[in-house]
Amino acid sequence: MNDITALSASRLAESVRQGKISAESAAKAYFDRIERLEPTVKAFLAVTKDSALDQARLLDKKRKNGQQLGVLAGVPVALKDNLQLKGVETTCGSKILKGHIAAYDATVTRRLKEAGAVIVGKTNLDEFAMGSSTENSAFQKTTNPWDSACVPGGSSGGSAAAAAARLCAFSLGSDTGGSIRQPAAFCGVVGLKPTYGMVSRHGLVAFASSLDQIGPFTRTVEDSALALSVIGGHDPLDSTSAVNAPPAVEPAPKDLKGLRIGLPKEYFIDGLDQEVEKSVREAVGVFKSLGATIREVSLPHTKYAIASYYIIAPSEASSNLARFDGIRYGFVDRSASTLEEVYEFTRGAGFGAEVKRRIMLGTYALSSGYYDAYYSKAQRVRTLMTRDFQDAFKQVDLIAAPTTPTPPFRFGEKTADPVAMYLSDVFTIPSNMAGNASLSMPCGLSAKGLPLGVQLIADVFQERLLLSAARAFESARPFPMLSDRSVSLLESQ
Ligand code: GLN
Repeated sequence: MNDITALSASRLAESVRQGKISAESAAKAYFDRIERLEPTVKAFLAVTKDSALDQARLLDKKRKNGQQLGVLAGVPVALKDNLQLKGVETTCGSKILKGHIAAYDATVTRRLKEAGAVIVGKTNLDEFAMGSSTENSAFQKTTNPWDSACVPGGSSGGSAAAAAARLCAFSLGSDTGGSIRQPAAFCGVVGLKPTYGMVSRHGLVAFASSLDQIGPFTRTVEDSALALSVIGGHDPLDSTSAVNAPPAVEPAPKDLKGLRIGLPKEYFIDGLDQEVEKSVREAVGVFKSLGATIREVSLPHTKYAIASYYIIAPSEASSNLARFDGIRYGFVDRSASTLEEVYEFTRGAGFGAEVKRRIMLGTYALSSGYYDAYYSKAQRVRTLMTRDFQDAFKQVDLIAAPTTPTPPFRFGEKTADPVAMYLSDVFTIPSNMAGNASLSMPCGLSAKGLPLGVQLIADVFQERLLLSAARAFESARPFPMLSDRSVSLLESQ
């Protein structure tokens, strides 16, 4: 029965509700797998086995007593370690938060628990979600389950790897400039960045508040819709939370007749890896064969995406990270003898190089005299990028594009050059700037057997359309799964 982990979250929850599989045996199947594979994958910063098994047994008891179980009954879920899980450490992959125990559940955590999900642990990430490879974690390097010499992408690399290696039925991550979609593409899973405001950010440690969104990593599109239906919807605890309800889970449409898909010419450029381009164009062919019409569109301000993002995101981060002062949360350097030294020593020792780089950039961009030249100008460019999408969505219903310019890269390949690392997000950042919905799903494997992803971009609050087109694609061309052969390779490493 160990192949409980091969079931999708939707099928598993169904079986648990019907009493065909107990929540306890589902949790145990996942913990067995974590024991076997986690030494190589290193996806988790914390595994919450005891509380998970208690939660699972409680669900089984409820069912025996005739109580109705939720839509995620007995589904093992992992949370990126910048999401609060009450009673468990939240580190954000940073030494500065070592020892900080969450005092409350994030809204997404609470909603997952209420729907019957079983939380199995907290996953590794680039420090404060800053990075594209998870190599910026202060604690460990997560490997790509498809090839342990490659990065899983980032910043939600732990969540992506855990979902791909079936160390959880699905996981949650956060996406500020691509941190759900890029690692989803690298690990061969579905990563959804909902519309800004669709999912409450209450209990997500803020990186860049106007760009951050929480979303799921799943192995099927149906599971992505299911996860969104649970975590989405208005929350009075987040003032930017929208009133829009998430779409209900619907069956896959048989075809996509009448759907207009746009290919942004600025995304198919020199520098786009040929294998990525080929597999994205093949994916477009699948949409065409399903009845969609394809045309070129233009998003002319794409070329300013990275430059304006690296003003706006660090500016917001420099302000958000001011709260980590050695007094309120986690680590404090006790050798300090003055208040100023408390700040200086704690932040000096607690933050890693990338986080310090962003704080300096952001503080500079926001300083008086430079604010208009940098921050305010970047915000104006952001408006232009938003208008690009508004214009495109007058002509087409969805946009299809590569998720990343390259296939998964190797450890160390981009760490010496921050700008090379930043370029990983050139195709994902625009949707954070405009706040629209976007997902990455697997569209093939490279010659080396590494996953490649196609990105589908929808207008704001068009998640229903986005997920239904993705489901049609998935039924026409089932996603490659991490095979048992790769798993035995992982075990032997
Ligand atoms: N890689 C981008 C960055 O480093 C995006 C990170 C994210 O989406 N959290 O900022």
